[in-house]
Amino acid sequence: MRRSGDEGFVLGIDLGGTKVAVSAADPAGRILAHRRRPTAPTGSPERDLAALADDARALVAEAGLDRGQLRAVGVSVPGPVDLEGGRVVDPPNLPGWGEVAVVAALEDALGAPTWIDNDANAAALAEWRFGAGRGRTHLVYMTMSTGIGGGLILGGRLHRGVACSAGEVGHIPVEWDGAPCACGQRGCLEAYIGGAAWTRHLRRVTPAESLAAQLAGGAERVRPEELVEAARRGDPFALREMQRFVDYLARGIVILSFVLAPELFVLGTIAVAAGEELCFAPLRERVRPRLWRVLRDRVEIRPAALGARTAEFAGVCVAYEGLAGSLPRPAAARG
Ligand SMILES: [Zn+2]
Repeated sequence: MRRSGDEGFVLGIDLGGTKVAVSAADPAGRILAHRRRPTAPTGSPERDLAALADDARALVAEAGLDRGQLRAVGVSVPGPVDLEGGRVVDPPNLPGWGEVAVVAALEDALGAPTWIDNDANAAALAEWRFGAGRGRTHLVYMTMSTGIGGGLILGGRLHRGVACSAGEVGHIPVEWDGAPCACGQRGCLEAYIGGAAWTRHLRRVTPAESLAAQLAGGAERVRPEELVEAARRGDPFALREMQRFVDYLARGIVILSFVLAPELFVLGTIAVAAGEELCFAPLRERVRPRLWRVLRDRVEIRPAALGARTAEFAGVCVAYEGLAGSLPRPAAARG
């Protein structure tokens, strides 16, 4: 029997785009057990949540933990979250879900206080506590996957803002009357270098004979992955596209630097894949001359450290936030 100590343990659940992950962690942040499986939404939230609770119970049993020692459950979900109601609102990767009271359902099933937050905030917390941002006080986390998500750690805590909508770094207008964005506005950063928008752009402009098109098996199938690979091999078209990516990213980072003066930007996904030579070095070169001297040497830009392991920590971090009193107690929850 594995001992979880007197302080008990927390469970973290990450409802990812393609996978569901469940972790158990002790109060010191040590992951005691972890499992993940592909998501196969049934179209019925009740059934999906019951399966999730089964995953959690199985993990607890597998790890030899005592269920009576479960202190809190944290859930990281994609898309808009109603923190006060403990609900997800139309999560894009869970068809048929609509508005679902995740907190109430999991509290009933697992018998512990449960909190929820969006995946960008949860990932920002994870990088801050366990990844590239350890020990920092002010950091901005940005992830360029389908859209662009962000989270702000300011003064040593996650900043949520009014309606919990701070950190939407993807919707900074980088071109005032620019390209339409999925959010309904125009010219957002996400409309240029979010994964989905960038992919659409690439499929429009990639020359059929270019290396990126060859790697993808046709210009109409190019993704940022092939573009990055082509750039790495020195293809001129791909290098120009990477320059465009870096230019737009720099606009966002310069704006955020003047407003927030963070000591660190942590960039995930596409930036990590592109790496030092294609992303981080040219990005710093682009950003630094635009910053005042007082900021220039103090604002660092670094890759996220957790990668796929983010899912291991995201939900756990939400549970810690809940226990620390940093998250509203959902109205749906009893007691
Ligand atoms: Zn937008």
